[in-house]
Amino acid sequence: MSFSTLGLDAELLSVLDTLGYQTPTPIQQAAIPEVLAGHDVMAGAQTGTGKTAAFALPLIQRHLAREESEKVIRVLVLTPTRELAQQVHQSFVKYSQGLGLNAVVAYGGASINPQIDALNEGCDVLVATPGRLLELAIKQLIDLSTVETLILDEADRMLDMGFIIDIERILKRLPETRQTLFFSATFNDEVFALSKTILKQPKLIEVAERNATAAKVEQRIYEVDNKRKAGLVAYLIGSKNWQQVLIFTRTKQAVDDLTKELGKDGISAAAVHGDKSQGARDRGLEEFKTGQVRALVATDVAARGLDIEQLQYVINYELPYNAEDYIHRIGRTGRAGKEGLAVSLVSPKEKYLLEDIEKLTGEHFVPQWMEGFEPNLMVQEEQASSKRKPSKKALRAKALGQSGGGKPKSGKPRRR
Ligand code: AMP
Repeated sequence: MSFSTLGLDAELLSVLDTLGYQTPTPIQQAAIPEVLAGHDVMAGAQTGTGKTAAFALPLIQRHLAREESEKVIRVLVLTPTRELAQQVHQSFVKYSQGLGLNAVVAYGGASINPQIDALNEGCDVLVATPGRLLELAIKQLIDLSTVETLILDEADRMLDMGFIIDIERILKRLPETRQTLFFSATFNDEVFALSKTILKQPKLIEVAERNATAAKVEQRIYEVDNKRKAGLVAYLIGSKNWQQVLIFTRTKQAVDDLTKELGKDGISAAAVHGDKSQGARDRGLEEFKTGQVRALVATDVAARGLDIEQLQYVINYELPYNAEDYIHRIGRTGRAGKEGLAVSLVSPKEKYLLEDIEKLTGEHFVPQWMEGFEPNLMVQEEQASSKRKPSKKALRAKALGQSGGGKPKSGKPRRR
């Protein structure tokens, strides 16, 4: 199948040609005709499958077909994070190059004035995070009454991050009659509940199994004690000569500590987390993308919206508390059909988190040890032998010559 069979105009086809896009991805094949036809859409697709183009291309096409050229906000894209907002904005710019469409991005944590200036120059498509959008709307710096299409990107994440009240406030400012599109890598019950209230007869598009992890990503689990994790990360990067590695931790402190540790081991790393200024975060991402540093250490803030064409390696220094974040993290590699490797370092205390991930993804992982970084065997053996110690009741029964009568325990090893 080619893009031309989806009903896209020659001008867009020529842009896609320049970008080297030859075949529409499955989400693009399914969503582009529905969006073009004006339907509401609820689409779930694996991360990195080309979902931004799936909504951007048909909306740019609609812009081209419009006779009046007045610049008013017709498309509003809401994203949970600044990084994703920047990414989606860049995609609109990329897909509409030379076609006279003005896309503007607005997010919190950065000065509002340049964003207002950009809006005043004329805006067809506004990509924004919910908080900054509300600020602009409440201060009457934007008019949302002209919006024709609303897109909630990563809708589940927006709900996870507690944006529901902001979203409801924004919805009140939008015209009742509009097209609404939900795009998300994962769907949960909350998202379905929200969709029922704001989508009208949506077309459901699911191109991959729900909550499936990115197809071409090899997932490897190393069992390792917490205090040896930093050493193992440095060893993996150094000994395998990995050049561009994205590393996730759960806390900001862990980001800072690991970044320092890697530095001591001669591995240049940038740190990205919520306490860093927007400028510092942008700089960190840029240094990573351009290869000035080998590693980017980040909290889940960076898990969405980060799109690096060739990113091959993701390391989960700590497993996330929320199993869905695992899917988003490892989806930063293996993008657009490329291969990737996701390594997770799991301490004995984190095994329950691994089980949550197994339940969500339907995968069964077999953890392995890295030579030289084996978990403390003494502790493991002690734990195992204390489990084997007979109870007082069993000892008394034995002394009285009773068999105990219960079912014999299966000799099967416990699944790890
Ligand atoms: P997304 O899922 O929208 O973040 O896109 C993931 C990556 O795939 C981005 O780097 C896009 O530029 C790229 N991409 C999107 N659609 C196509 C396509 N049809 N052919 C090749 N690359 C694509």
